[in-house]
Amino acid sequence: MKLFTDDRWYRGNLHTHTTVSDGRRTPEETIAAYRAKGYDFLAITDHRIFGAGREEPDFVLIPGAEYDLNDFDRREAFHILGLGIRENVTTRNDLPPQQLIDGIRAAGGMAVLAHPGWSLLEHASAQALTGYEAMEIYNGVSEFYSGRGYYGDFVDTLASKGRVYPLLANDDTHFYELDFASGWTMLQTDSFTISGILDSLRAGRYYSTQGPEIHQITLEDGRLTVETSPLTEICFYSDAFYAEGRVVRAQEGETLTTASYQFGPLDHWVRIEGRDASGKRCFSNYIIP
Ligand SMILES: [Zn+2]
Ligand SMILES: [Zn+2]
Repeated sequence: MKLFTDDRWYRGNLHTHTTVSDGRRTPEETIAAYRAKGYDFLAITDHRIFGAGREEPDFVLIPGAEYDLNDFDRREAFHILGLGIRENVTTRNDLPPQQLIDGIRAAGGMAVLAHPGWSLLEHASAQALTGYEAMEIYNGVSEFYSGRGYYGDFVDTLASKGRVYPLLANDDTHFYELDFASGWTMLQTDSFTISGILDSLRAGRYYSTQGPEIHQITLEDGRLTVETSPLTEICFYSDAFYAEGRVVRAQEGETLTTASYQFGPLDHWVRIEGRDASGKRCFSNYIIP
């Protein structure tokens, strides 16, 4: 079984702020900047403010917003993206986070748990919530301006407890400097529309990246093979503590473009992550045989 087809790839960012909330560029400047960078789709997700979508032949704007609750006493925040919502969702500081997720779903949207590490979110808090459909594994603004932008351990710990969700790498653009075009989605879809893109996200027909490319992932007789752009390291994460051959490294000064891993008896899922010579990563979704 091959995870991807020979169809074209679409590039998108699903977490963006503009001058409508605390971002530094207007929505139209933002759209122009992403288009100029070669993006095909974008979600503008201003804080608690609905951003409308639109469909053009060569660019799709996904409607969205980010609903945030910051509990300064408990030192824990819940920031939930609503992608594909039809209308704004009621947010008040005293609402429980579950109500935000329920509101996003009632508005026809996909709820995404954003930057869990930046939020100092406890695993138990994320496990107590239901109804979200994806989680960020990378968040650009958190990486460059807070030093907490990568959440591999967090999402894997949840997945090892049965909470397996699609993963996203997002810019969370505010400053349009280092955060801009630092993490994105490469997606395949039968229909380049708002609903087609959301269907592909839910089905995991994409990978996430900070630059390196995943060309194909093949699963045959419990053996996973990934084909990539040149990398220095490929890791096959799973819910087993230890697995021989999990980390595949290129020889010093060389690169590799493929690696394989045999599912072991203790592996319920495998997640592939690659790193290139500059340290940039690409991320598969969870693969369940
Ligand atoms: Zn946030
Ligand atoms: Zn944000």
